[in-house]
Amino acid sequence: FLKGKTAIVTGSTSGIGLAYARALAAEGAAVTINGFGDADAIERARTELEATSGAPARYDAADMTKPEQIAAMVEATAAAQGGVDILINNAGIQHVARIEDFPGEKMEAIIAINLTSAWYAMQAVVPLMKKAGWGRIISTASAHSLVASPNKSAYVMAKHGLVGLTKTIALETAANGVTVNCISPGYVWTPLVEAQIPDTMASRGLTREQVMNDVLLAAQPTKEFVTPEQVAALALFLCRDEAASMTGANLSMDGGWTAA
Ligand code: NAD
Repeated sequence: FLKGKTAIVTGSTSGIGLAYARALAAEGAAVTINGFGDADAIERARTELEATSGAPARYDAADMTKPEQIAAMVEATAAAQGGVDILINNAGIQHVARIEDFPGEKMEAIIAINLTSAWYAMQAVVPLMKKAGWGRIISTASAHSLVASPNKSAYVMAKHGLVGLTKTIALETAANGVTVNCISPGYVWTPLVEAQIPDTMASRGLTREQVMNDVLLAAQPTKEFVTPEQVAALALFLCRDEAASMTGANLSMDGGWTAA
């Protein structure tokens, strides 16, 4: 149902972002992927997307800490495809430490990549979407957009901010056929989650099993990780015309975490 549509997914060389890209391509969208990683693996992902969608797939190496590179990525995709219909702000990093031990540069990097990049990307795509009279902007927030956990001050601050940004731009575009929403997953099994296990083991003095069961899944009543494909399926729904009245929302997919 997305044939003829063009999407940009930031931070899509891995994890949830790659699942969004695959889901959009499976519906026929031309997708621009973005993020870091092994060049061969990225090229394999790009060709796979093109084969699935039957539409051009692009890779853009824009660094989400660099506003001019974000604008250039949007411009390049729009120039190649004639517009940008769907933007998914998904790039994100994490750092786990008590505020006393949290390096200021890490905090600044988390704010830049997880929050400020979404502002710049929205600034670049909103005029295109308004002109087209149709658009979908989706940001991957987190259960940490609604509740906090210790040792994640920068991440929680960024994700709460993303919800405010989403509400504001939803209001600014409400009469233009554009919807702006957040998806807030609980723990999704991806490299980002795997990478924070050693830090949490160190900062709380726990074993790997204790971190998985007593810290990560402790908060998730289903005792199951969310899958990247489940998150991507919700994003696809938001791209449907049936979702035209959903805007400014923060949609939880967290195994019951924030119900508790
Ligand atoms: P991941 O580490 O697998 O993917 C992160 C992506 O962001 C990668 O493609 C990486 O290359 C890219 N990236 C990092 N820094 C970048 C930069 N400066 N410029 C461009 N790209 C950059 O992580 P993931 O778990 O798939 O997370 C994706 C999003 O989902 C993040 O915003 C994360 O906060 C959010 N999220 C994840 C979970 C979870 O449990 N995994 C839960 C809730 C929210």
